[in-house]
Amino acid sequence: MVSVESDELPECSAAFDKVRCCEVGEHLCEPRANHFRSFCAKLLVHTKGAYAGKPFILSDWQWEKIVRPLFGTVVWSEEWDCYVRRYTQAYIEIARKNGKSELLSAIVLYLLIADGEESAEVYGMARTRDQAKLVYEVVKRMVELSDPLLARISKRGIIAHAKRVIDAKSNSKYECIPADEKTALGTNPSGGAADELAVWRDRGLWDSATTGSDTRKQPLIVAATTAGTDLSGFGKSMHDEKAKLVNNPDLNRHIFVFIRNSPRSESELEELRANYPGDPDLPVSLDVFDERNWRWPNPALGDFLKISGLRRAADEAREEPQAEQAFRVFRMNQWLAQTFRYMPMHLWEKSSKVSWESPSERESLAGQRAYGGLDLASKHDLTAWCVLLPSDDPGGRVSALWRFWLPEGALPGLDKAHNGAFTQWAEQGWLTVTPGAVVNYESVYADIQADGESFVLSGFHADEWSSMPVIQAVQTRLHLPEDRYESYTNNFQRMSPGMDGVMGLVKSGRLEHYGNPIAAFCFRNVMVKRAPFNKDLVRPEKPDRSLDSSRIDAVPAIAMAYNAMDQFENYEPESKSSAYETRGLIVA
Ligand SMILES: [Zn+2]
Repeated sequence: MVSVESDELPECSAAFDKVRCCEVGEHLCEPRANHFRSFCAKLLVHTKGAYAGKPFILSDWQWEKIVRPLFGTVVWSEEWDCYVRRYTQAYIEIARKNGKSELLSAIVLYLLIADGEESAEVYGMARTRDQAKLVYEVVKRMVELSDPLLARISKRGIIAHAKRVIDAKSNSKYECIPADEKTALGTNPSGGAADELAVWRDRGLWDSATTGSDTRKQPLIVAATTAGTDLSGFGKSMHDEKAKLVNNPDLNRHIFVFIRNSPRSESELEELRANYPGDPDLPVSLDVFDERNWRWPNPALGDFLKISGLRRAADEAREEPQAEQAFRVFRMNQWLAQTFRYMPMHLWEKSSKVSWESPSERESLAGQRAYGGLDLASKHDLTAWCVLLPSDDPGGRVSALWRFWLPEGALPGLDKAHNGAFTQWAEQGWLTVTPGAVVNYESVYADIQADGESFVLSGFHADEWSSMPVIQAVQTRLHLPEDRYESYTNNFQRMSPGMDGVMGLVKSGRLEHYGNPIAAFCFRNVMVKRAPFNKDLVRPEKPDRSLDSSRIDAVPAIAMAYNAMDQFENYEPESKSSAYETRGLIVA
């Protein structure tokens, strides 16, 4: 920082609209800020929706919270011997549909022709070529819809194929660049606007935009984004870096930050209250469905953002976990991993056959065809066995029964975290607690054997963690041939069919699960993770690896039982493979 005493500095003397600034030293310069506001109102028009063609009058919040401090705050520069903008970088993070792209366009047009910069080089930046094109389209449209701008730049200055706008009068250019294509920036950027940093793959383009402008008097690179789902990528690291400046701007006095995330935890809510004491827009709770919490991430709400659209999105989010995840990330501006709740619990509760009230009632299913799924990921913890019993009618109902075992040693911890629920479940007969610190396999085998005797159990799947001797013991107790079981890890390819199949049964009202409380506990906890390489593949996940008191084992167990049912329901054993050959012959 410049260490000149304020009283040794000259007056600012910036003037606009008959007002001259007499401030000395770092200050909020009204004429400079008003110059930007007036540029927007007099030269720019909105490009979208009901406002298209109308003057671009900044909203109160855009003016007060972003534009006025960003364009108005100046500091004395020894190097240039004049006052220059304090901020060379800005980071704006708000929910979608709050006018980010139009504000960015206004900023780049200002930097291109109204900032007093000769030979300005201003860049629009987005992750992909298509996104860069969209960014360019808004700027181009703003020029085309404005008579004075079009008169100055002329049609010849709009070079659409190169995504460029040229201002011949100041020898300046604006150009849109995709971050993914490693296109080099010019050597001397003076301004830039980066769109949706949350989805950028890497920081290459951002770094070259923000570090290449040393020879400019008052460069400005602005990023505007909504939160994202990649918690280990460049976007999130940018967010973390900038979020630190919210309560400690002196860490870097040249970066302006405006971040509005919905809090994800009590501690985040407390932090907001500490950082913005008395702000009337602060959220009142963590509930993203409470409308009082919507204005914080959506400053345009009640202004150009209508509440009806947010309400529709919230309604969808209540019904569908995947929509809830999108609502939280894009409309409430929360950084969340690409995982979401698997089961809408009201659907799960609907599929309970409530007339069955105790585990002993499983006897009325005796004699039915059945398929098993065995999840025994840790011998120190919950083991889950699920049996699915399809009815003879092919589109008919499918009953689901579970057995759970827990070593005594794991009981106190789980009870403590869940208010004694596990002891209660054991007393009610839903859970078998075996003595010692590791699960007693003999107890597991005996119970599974009992199922094998009451049902016609003709196949099972198990997770690969179940050691081979355990799987073989189960196979022996069930008197099954070798080709009637499989084991595999909890991966996307193997778990997806079962997870989708169970969801299909629940949604079509075909699953009957008799209100097993431990299964419900697991279904409430379980999240699904989407495969990064294929969005159609999912697998079950614990909600948070640090929450070691949550359990999900009922879910992989039923997914594996579903896979077994799917495989063996119309199974032709190897020895009868001649059926295929016969069919082949007929075709030939
Ligand atoms: Zn001033």
